[in-house]
Amino acid sequence: MTSSFADLSASKACANCGATFYRDRRNTWAYWGKAKFCSRECAGAKIASDKVARRPAREVAFRKWFATGGGCWEWQGAVDRDGYGIFSYAGKTSRAARVSLEFDGRPLSGAEMACHRCDNPRFVRPDHLFAGTNQDNMQDMVRKGRNPDRFGPNNPNWRGGISGRSRVA
Ligand SMILES: [Zn+2]
Ligand SMILES: [Zn+2]
Repeated sequence: MTSSFADLSASKACANCGATFYRDRRNTWAYWGKAKFCSRECAGAKIASDKVARRPAREVAFRKWFATGGGCWEWQGAVDRDGYGIFSYAGKTSRAARVSLEFDGRPLSGAEMACHRCDNPRFVRPDHLFAGTNQDNMQDMVRKGRNPDRFGPNNPNWRGGISGRSRVA
């Protein structure tokens, strides 16, 4: 980008194509501080390629942990102390049901939880899950007579590798 607005004293290399680009005098220095690309096209291309590079690997890693079929899909990976399947990837741990909804195109907001129609916190089939609040989930659990301890360390199937509620998204 060289134009009459180019500040030739401030340059960077484009994070996508490597070309040198200059600060546009019409933009603030704060904007320049964050600028990484020579053009809108390069910004778009980098975002798109990052998505492609990231998404399949994460989704493939996720799908390794359960078999899909006609019925419920049971998470075979780690569970937290409440019995929920948990998925760890790139240093981030999330509840598996939550990730399942995300891959199903129905990501939850921060306050929402993935609730299980099928009464097993290890099940991750997205069409058996619905978005609810923590309160909905507790009421649902009580209504179904589910005791969370049943899925804790006293359960022979407990695989708790990771403990600590705070790390679960
Ligand atoms: Zn570029
Ligand atoms: Zn189910």
